[in-house]
Amino acid sequence: MERFQVVVAGAGPVGSVAAYRLAQLGVEVLLLEAAPRCPEDLRASTMHPPTLDMMKELGVLEDLEAQGLRAPVYHYRNRTTGEVMAFDMGELGDISEHPYRLQCEQFKLSRLLTAKLAEHPKGEVRFSHRLAHFTQDDQGVTASIEAPFGIEQVRCDYLIGADGANSIVRKWLDVEFEGFTYPEKFLTLSTDWPLENHFPGLAHVNYVADPKEWCVLLRVPSLWRILVPANGDESDEALLSDAKKEAVFGGLLGDGASIKTAHRTLYKVHQRVAKTYHVGRVLLAGDAAHLNNPLGGFGMNSGVHDVWNLTQKLAEILLENGDAETLLPLYDRQRRAVMHKFIQTQTIANKAAMEAGTVEAYAEREAKMRKILADPEQRREYLLLQSMYKSLELEAATA
Ligand SMILES: Cc1cc2nc3c(=O)[nH]c(=O)nc-3n(C[C@H](O)[C@H](O)[C@H](O)COP(=O)(O)OP(=O)(O)OC[C@H]3O[C@@H](n4cnc5c(N)ncnc54)[C@H](O)[C@@H]3O)c2cc1C
Repeated sequence: MERFQVVVAGAGPVGSVAAYRLAQLGVEVLLLEAAPRCPEDLRASTMHPPTLDMMKELGVLEDLEAQGLRAPVYHYRNRTTGEVMAFDMGELGDISEHPYRLQCEQFKLSRLLTAKLAEHPKGEVRFSHRLAHFTQDDQGVTASIEAPFGIEQVRCDYLIGADGANSIVRKWLDVEFEGFTYPEKFLTLSTDWPLENHFPGLAHVNYVADPKEWCVLLRVPSLWRILVPANGDESDEALLSDAKKEAVFGGLLGDGASIKTAHRTLYKVHQRVAKTYHVGRVLLAGDAAHLNNPLGGFGMNSGVHDVWNLTQKLAEILLENGDAETLLPLYDRQRRAVMHKFIQTQTIANKAAMEAGTVEAYAEREAKMRKILADPEQRREYLLLQSMYKSLELEAATA
């Protein structure tokens, strides 16, 4: 039977980073992807500064920058008064080489890395190969893979489940996915209509709070993406209809009928964390291990940070005789601490702040944001939090 040091299931952004980094560190790795190519979905589009530091180390930052947009400033906007609060990540220039968000769709990262991995002497990628099952023993893991014409089996020392929210790896491990699902859905609409013409000075990333209908306006190189909450009781058909599109753009621009959309997508939104990321020789990372709402753009970024931590430890175990019994539980503790104490807390707070129920609660929250913006110390703390540097400090401090 073929043998690899590590098999990674899932060539989304998290699995692609895991596999390419392992190959670069000198580990023999096989990356399996169920789909015929990296799926082109409009989900993550923001890379935070620490993720950009990692991309530089992988040697792919220049390629990503060429396909993305730098967004040093992001706005909190008041839909009624038009007030704009501008936060500038450029203020972190003393500690960060990349003090900005990069607006770049997640499939660009997966495609870039899988192409590079295919050329790497330590790496191999197999598309249309779905991990179906696995068993593990003291010497390794046997992975059973559904290939186009039959079931194939490979052996490996370690298996990483980076196979997304519906992870088969997590399900076979029977690891509980604790948390909750919001009753409302999120609707994203994308358009090439130049929103910046309607809102002068619009940043590439804008959180528009409102007690009635909040929204997020995000720019990627070819499109604007508008994210709004959608009533979970309405049918998917109604939420994806022209009438809904006209209502959303009508509310924003005064005229929704003439706006053409390139995509309309509905998402269920969850806050869930796997009870453990480590069972013997099998590890979970990315959406397979945790889910959160997209306010703040932490989902993919935190998954990339998971595998940055994990791949370092696996390389130490496989190439330098590191102690798996110590290192893998440490991965679990460090990354679950970040997930519980930072990502879950922050994303739940970010969502609550956007919708802020009553007019009074909304005014109170705005006053708090104004105070943060006006005070250099509080502003810096806030920028360190939202840029995710704080989450990596927490990881390093977790023993
Ligand atoms: C509307 C929206 C906006 C978002 N915006 C942001 C953002 O701006 N910033 C951010 O950081 N995050 C954002 N996220 C979250 C982000 O999209 C996810 O966290 C990210 O995609 C997780 O990456 P992943 O590689 O873990 O999983 P996925 O991207 O889901 O990739 C999993 C891959 O595994 C493959 N696969 C599945 N099962 C198998 C199997 N059995 N065998 C082999 N392959 C398999 C799938 O085909 C897929 O390619 C957003 C999410 C949503 C819904």
